[in-house]
Amino acid sequence: MPAPESPELAIALDAVRLAARVCRNVQGSISDDVLQKHDRTPVTVADFAAQAVVCRALQAAFPDVPIVGEEDAAELRQPENAPLLERIQRELAAVNVDGSPDDICRWIDHGNGKADSPRYWTLDPIDGTKGFLRGEQYAVSLALLVDYRLEVAVVGCPNLPSAQNRSRIRENSGGQQPDGRILTNSATDASADGVLQFAVRGQGAWQRPADGTGDAVPIHVSPTTIPAEARLCESVEKKHTAHSASARIAADLGITREPVRIDSQAKYAVVARGDADFYLRLPRSQAPAWERGYVEKIWDHAGGALLVEEAGGRVTDVDGHPLDWTHGDALHANRGLIVTNGRLHDAVLAAVGVRLDCR
Ligand code: AMP
Ligand code: MG
Repeated sequence: MPAPESPELAIALDAVRLAARVCRNVQGSISDDVLQKHDRTPVTVADFAAQAVVCRALQAAFPDVPIVGEEDAAELRQPENAPLLERIQRELAAVNVDGSPDDICRWIDHGNGKADSPRYWTLDPIDGTKGFLRGEQYAVSLALLVDYRLEVAVVGCPNLPSAQNRSRIRENSGGQQPDGRILTNSATDASADGVLQFAVRGQGAWQRPADGTGDAVPIHVSPTTIPAEARLCESVEKKHTAHSASARIAADLGITREPVRIDSQAKYAVVARGDADFYLRLPRSQAPAWERGYVEKIWDHAGGALLVEEAGGRVTDVDGHPLDWTHGDALHANRGLIVTNGRLHDAVLAAVGVRLDCR
């Protein structure tokens, strides 16, 4: 199958590549001092700058298609935040995106569209802010929905090593497992050059190095069929998923390996390319989402979900329902997530059902 082509994909790839570059520059400037002070300024700068870059590019190419993004510029417009805005302006200029403070705020606010038109983008400029601050995995995630169906996805993972670097990683042994799979939240390995994964519905999932060089290669989910041999990944943050429930589910499936904890939609990326076999995101409350508990945002899953489906995998909620994109900017009709290589889906769903007492 040839690599997909579409006007939307070409623009989205360029936009996410540039946003990932900005994020990489900013992450590279985080000092120990900033980390020790729990100063969130770097992630704030990168978050706004990435949304500005992507919205600017999409608005120029597709002015009538709304963007449902995570950020807005209301706070940034406050006079006391002028220094922050100046820093964002400098980071943008460093990647040859020149704009006045007002331009930058307008680009960011173009990302405040509503998820209620026949065609809209959804954007998470930095998914996994905690991973970003720790110097670990994070993602820039963009997806196009048409008639409430995922059509195009581009997910940039600036700290995930590209396939081209697998051999070097083996030598350096930075997170490479004995069977060659790369499954680590760490970005300290010098070969972590970053990837762009992308998909167009019906045209497969693909990956290329984050700097846009090199050929796109098709990616596929793993061939694993035996649950006990499966590799599980989940959030690092215990507030985002029930670690204790996933441990019980893994044990029920006969899995003895520890789960690998990775921030952001990089989890979808590692399932899509077969480095992990499944990803669980389990509600911490047993009540349905519409009664209480956390409701997942569309930008946290839209890009990743299409990648995994186009790579041959399956994505449902913990009740086995497909993700329902018709409820605005959140997945109100779904709770939790099960993301697998497809072959393992029914077994994982059954094990989750027993432990979460699903209907
Ligand atoms: P992850 O890196 O997979 O742990 O997910 C990061 C995303 O989790 C963030 O972008 C948040 O939007 C989202 N998030 C925030 N609070 C929660 C929560 N209580 N449960 C699940 N996800 C959450
Ligand atoms: Mg997010």
